[in-house]
Amino acid sequence: MGCAECFYNGGRFYRTLEEPLVPSLQEAMGRIVRVNSGHDSNLQREGVIGATRHYPDKFYNTSIARFDFPGPVVYTCNGRRLVLAEPPPAGNLMFVRVRACTWSLDEVDAAVEFYQKKRGIPTVLTFMRYYSRDAVQRPEDYEWRKSVLNDYWCIRPEAMTRVMARYKGTGARSCGTASSSLCIDCRNCEMLYWECLGRMKRASKEAYWNKQLNCKAP
Ligand code: SF4
Repeated sequence: MGCAECFYNGGRFYRTLEEPLVPSLQEAMGRIVRVNSGHDSNLQREGVIGATRHYPDKFYNTSIARFDFPGPVVYTCNGRRLVLAEPPPAGNLMFVRVRACTWSLDEVDAAVEFYQKKRGIPTVLTFMRYYSRDAVQRPEDYEWRKSVLNDYWCIRPEAMTRVMARYKGTGARSCGTASSSLCIDCRNCEMLYWECLGRMKRASKEAYWNKQLNCKAP
């Protein structure tokens, strides 16, 4: 989708773009499949849904405001510009991912207000890493260092802690922590996946009872 500073488009994805990693059912058993850890589940959408339908536990990822997937979906609301789309009634909006940096907090404020505070949808702030120093508007908050596999301009731990303090009490979370960008030290996706399944179950029960009550109405 041409989102600025995307690690997938920037040639820093952890594997080749030509050959998607599609785990076998045996490999996926007892695990949650993160569909489109790169690229976008709404692109080549029918192919993505078809190739993943058989996984018992999976969630989709998109930066396009279309949420009708057969499972939970994570929506990046500001891949290009901020789009505050209403959550689907099916309850399958797992969380809203908000691209964050230390000079875009008005945008993050708006997303946290709209999703987390007003609609109870979890928000997760993803602090962007930059290839080019020219993209960093507050250099005092960033340092050149390795994140997982590649080197980038990354937010300094103290700047991340300062930004997250701004959202204290809202429920907003960060992707990774100030001391680690590894999923094993965070596990938001895992926890929010199970929480989303609970929301989907409640939404489906509610839809069922609404239908029953409407049928019985004179
Ligand atoms: S588990 Fe945490 S670090 Fe990993 S992608 Fe999810 S939010 Fe980010």
